[in-house]
Amino acid sequence: MNKTMVLVVEDDRSVQNLMISTLKAHDYRYLIAVNGESAILEASSHNPDIILLDLGLPDIDGVEVIERIRTWSNVPIIIISARSEDSDKIEALDAGADDYLTKPFSVEELLARLRVTERRLAMMQGEQASSPVFVNGKLRVDFSAGCAYLDEEELHLTPIEYKLLCLLSKNVGKVLTHTFITQNIWGHSWENDVASLRVFMATLRKKLEKNPDSIKYIQTHVGIGYRMIKVE
Ligand code: CA
Repeated sequence: MNKTMVLVVEDDRSVQNLMISTLKAHDYRYLIAVNGESAILEASSHNPDIILLDLGLPDIDGVEVIERIRTWSNVPIIIISARSEDSDKIEALDAGADDYLTKPFSVEELLARLRVTERRLAMMQGEQASSPVFVNGKLRVDFSAGCAYLDEEELHLTPIEYKLLCLLSKNVGKVLTHTFITQNIWGHSWENDVASLRVFMATLRKKLEKNPDSIKYIQTHVGIGYRMIKVE
């Protein structure tokens, strides 16, 4: 079986060492780039399965690296951000990144993000990618029929809730920003839209996660957006 190939883009030697030793210990293959230009070159010549990308690079901005890679590739990109503000993460996610880690992060956090991304990869490459039916744990969304079911029971969703559920399902495993979601649902992203989104997300959640011990399908990223979890 092919081992997952990870491209590590990081100029800070100590963080790079932490990532490499973690990847080695868990049987990943890896490549290293220490700036943006070489990251783009490595990505185009070696076709990695996942990219771990530091946003603060010595030559070009990490967001530009994402934009350029996205012109030809959908490879999952996990950004590594040193800044605690959300704005750079949001910008990177809107440019096409899939997920993020904030420095300092633990080995466990890094591994967890890699696992989430691998599950997303498996789904993108698997049968489900082009299937009209999305299955995740007890949740089933039939895109062609326009219905969603939980535990084989039809969910009674409003049109907006259904659109939200479809958008999250089609991007399972990926963090979607408020801007991305509101633009997809309403066609624009105004100040009020984020507040409305919060309300619709709460009602959708109530229907999906009926009991306190229900599976948590939707994760909130405070100040950033939402993600549907791929349930194992
Ligand atoms: Ca850096």
